[in-house]
Amino acid sequence: MNAALNVLPSLLPRILPRVLPRVVLCACVTATAPACSKSPGQSAEFFVFGTLVDVRLPDSDREQAAEVLPAVQRELQRMHHEWHAWEPGALTRLNDALQTGETARTTAEIAEMLRRSRDLERRSGGRFNPAIGRLVALWGFHTSEFPIVGPPPDGDAIGALVDARPSTLDLVLEGDTVRSSNPAVQLDFGGIGKGYATDLACAVIRSQGVESAIVNAGGDVRTMGDNAGKPWRIAVRDPAGAGGVAGAIEISGDAAVFTSGNYARFREDAGERYAHILDPRTGYPVRHVASATVIAPDGTTADAAATAMVVAGPEDWPQVAADMGIAAVLVIDASGEMRATRAMMDYFTPAEGWAISVVGPER
Ligand code: AMP
Ligand code: MG
Repeated sequence: MNAALNVLPSLLPRILPRVLPRVVLCACVTATAPACSKSPGQSAEFFVFGTLVDVRLPDSDREQAAEVLPAVQRELQRMHHEWHAWEPGALTRLNDALQTGETARTTAEIAEMLRRSRDLERRSGGRFNPAIGRLVALWGFHTSEFPIVGPPPDGDAIGALVDARPSTLDLVLEGDTVRSSNPAVQLDFGGIGKGYATDLACAVIRSQGVESAIVNAGGDVRTMGDNAGKPWRIAVRDPAGAGGVAGAIEISGDAAVFTSGNYARFREDAGERYAHILDPRTGYPVRHVASATVIAPDGTTADAAATAMVVAGPEDWPQVAADMGIAAVLVIDASGEMRATRAMMDYFTPAEGWAISVVGPER
């Protein structure tokens, strides 16, 4: 999800002429069109993980891009299908087995994502928890159509799912085989899958000898190398609205910039909004953080940590970030106040008119 980060508006005139026809044509991959001849390198856009993914290779020629970009698209589509939380695939098969207590063999990628998830869940103090698939489904968020309109689920039903305490720590993992000691565990990789997918996409790109690339998955960005000798420049969207920008991050090398927010996917009822990010400890949607942006060396960590920061809320996020080993965090709370860690300020410049306070000790 998260259209919260976008490549800066200065790039949009270059992107849009190519994005629009491909959106309409169902996003087939081709190397850079002549409309983009001023932009160095090659790129492609396609829909996957419910969002427009833009992959650019600043140092590549057409021939190389024609090999690399379709391979990236194929891999991302495969992952999207296999990890889907409610359409039949490898993950739904695993979920079926987990609720009966059966031992199941899953894919090496899902097993790896579970290992990473367990560590991230533990370090986040249970705020990031991809075992809460039943709660996410109960709230109606297993859909691609937003906003959802209608009253929230019954409080007793929410309470029962919270009391069952599903956790990835209930899983017994041996190689690629998995069993759950808790039948309430249902996996939902909505908070981490896109991050892991961007890491694997970068691995595919690198395996073909390419050093520099950016994978922008609807605003969640994974970078490698640099942008033709310059840092990558990534905008942080104003969560309050209409395409506004709250600032920009400049970064090079292997990095991921992921944002979670409570503004894009939600349920609406009687003027009240219920965000699609749930606090696993209460079973209710988060309220107080509008968006959290995290920089980490890899997409898997950045994605899970951004979700955890939103759940942690305005008081606790600095401590949870420290517990998770995340140095660079930017949080915009529901009243529009912007705060960041000192490490984030090495990369982030607020847009004009935005005040920012820096949290944490002097270096
Ligand atoms: P993200 O946009 O990365 O913050 O992920 C949000 C998605 O992750 C939701 O749409 C749910 O599918 C799932 N999710 C919701 N709450 C949590 C949570 N506390 N921990 C892990 N995944 C969650
Ligand atoms: Mg996430």
